Amino acid sequence: MTAQIISGTEVAKQIREELKQEIAELKEKHNVVPGLVTILVGADPASQVYVGGKEKTSKELGIYSERYDLPAETTQEELLALIDKLNKDPKINGILVQLPLPKQINETEVLYAIDPKKDVDGFHPVSLGKLMIGEPDYIPCTPHGIWQLLIRSGVKVDGAEVVVVGRSNIVGKPIANILLQKKEGANATVTVCHTGTKDMSFHTKRADILIVAAGKAKAITADMVKEGVVVIDVGVNQIGTTSEGKRILAGDVDFETVKEKASAITPVPGGVGPMTITMLMLNTVRAAKLAAGLTEEGE
Ligand code: NAP
Repeated sequence: MTAQIISGTEVAKQIREELKQEIAELKEKHNVVPGLVTILVGADPASQVYVGGKEKTSKELGIYSERYDLPAETTQEELLALIDKLNKDPKINGILVQLPLPKQINETEVLYAIDPKKDVDGFHPVSLGKLMIGEPDYIPCTPHGIWQLLIRSGVKVDGAEVVVVGRSNIVGKPIANILLQKKEGANATVTVCHTGTKDMSFHTKRADILIVAAGKAKAITADMVKEGVVVIDVGVNQIGTTSEGKRILAGDVDFETVKEKASAITPVPGGVGPMTITMLMLNTVRAAKLAAGLTEEGE
């Protein structure tokens, strides 16, 4: 069996088209323009690329965007003062602080300072708590993207054995919580593996759907999966550099061998990656609708 390739690039394009239309309608019918602010502290090259991508996509879709590039020496007090100002700014529906932050700034305190109503990254404990009880306002972007990939590719999640490798607060735990909900497109039996798991293969071999977010290049090999598994590879690992200086990327799954056993698989790049920014845009539109009273909380 050679797997169907689940293209995040294609699914993201489809969702962006839907969002563009919704944003145009919001403006026309309700005079509502969703607003997103991105804050970058320091000049980390990868973070600059991510923030640039978010700004560009916002503009393409018709989202009002502001960007703050703060020096690496910015103090925690200065950053908190900016967040406080943006929390009160009615033009801004979503606040995104690009991580990681420099050492002198406590990430947790910064994320907690964002008004949960503007928490479009979905990292605030209020957002994560609401997700856990099945009444989410903002689902973190990467797990939300994974969920949409499964739904829109027609993968049957209801009743499936799902195995998640990785338990981070931004990917592993939230995707496990999403697929556990007694809801359409979810309702799975979920197992979460991590470095304390005794026999990884025992679990991965049972998976109908295997979601890997470990940050270890090619950690999942063909002998660790069963025939017909659906594989979502979240990992992005640099495994080398081309002669032109471009990064060579690999996922957490050994794509070439696993694709011969899987029924469907996401590539790296072009799988989960393009979905993440798209779901940030979706959360920003939702924040604008909530602020304008056009939708209900926890829907
Ligand atoms: P993280 O915070 O480093 O967490 C990694 C998790 O994997 C941890 O729970 C760790 O277990 C577990 N793990 C690591 N090695 C393992 C092994 N050999 N066996 C079993 N479990 C193992 O990483 P993350 O932020 O979730 O990101 C994971 C990967 O996804 C990274 O490659 C990252 O770049 C990528 N990512 C991609 C996107 C995207 O948009 N495409 C977004 C976010 C992340 P312990 O808890 O026991 O340490």
